[in-house]
Amino acid sequence: MTESTLYQHGTLALLVPGLFRGTMRVGELMQHGDTGIGTLTGLDGELVMEAGKVYQVAATGQVRVVDPDELVPFANVHYADYTDAGTLNKLAFTDLQARLLELMGTQNAFYAVRIHGEFSHVHTRAVAAQREPYPTLVATAAAQHEFHADDVEGTLSGYFSPALYAGAVSPGFHLHFLSDDHQFGGHVLGGELADGAVQLQRFDDFQLHLPNDDADFKQADFTGSDVLDQIHQAEN
Ligand SMILES: [Zn+2]
Repeated sequence: MTESTLYQHGTLALLVPGLFRGTMRVGELMQHGDTGIGTLTGLDGELVMEAGKVYQVAATGQVRVVDPDELVPFANVHYADYTDAGTLNKLAFTDLQARLLELMGTQNAFYAVRIHGEFSHVHTRAVAAQREPYPTLVATAAAQHEFHADDVEGTLSGYFSPALYAGAVSPGFHLHFLSDDHQFGGHVLGGELADGAVQLQRFDDFQLHLPNDDADFKQADFTGSDVLDQIHQAEN
């Protein structure tokens, strides 16, 4: 069942009060997939996993290869087994998302999305590494670094997660970008696709792995907290 399984370590909700310390080694994470997205301890940058390699886009904008011993508080991976869904061109990011939803035909299934091609514009962010004691997710999002690139070739990749699993996941599209020359990337905020090949992969299984041995996670109290409101503020 490996190709039909989306594997996730951690939940988005546990980032809301600031549980940013990594609780799984990158090397272990990559035993559950060869493709994905995530972040490192302290929300240090934006990760892109591609063909078994793990890249970090740091808040400086620089891209580097991540060591297997580094830790993630939250990440998704899967084994790439995409279905070609044709080509799309001249689409702003919001229109692109609408077209992807049409191609998927449902908002209630997990999908991986991969678009390789030319982008006339890409607008990204990368969160700067936070130090303990960690701030809340909303406070962190306010301190992100933003980047812009014009006429760049690269890969847009990530996931669509259904709203009905909000809290465990970030509902909607969560896409990262990495240029072919590995000089530019990050968490995608906007842009425009010039011409790209679209690939989709639907998951019939969602495997949620939890940091149950982490002391801070054990003590965190989510009773009565407005987790979903804060996720919405941080991600939009
Ligand atoms: Zn992201």
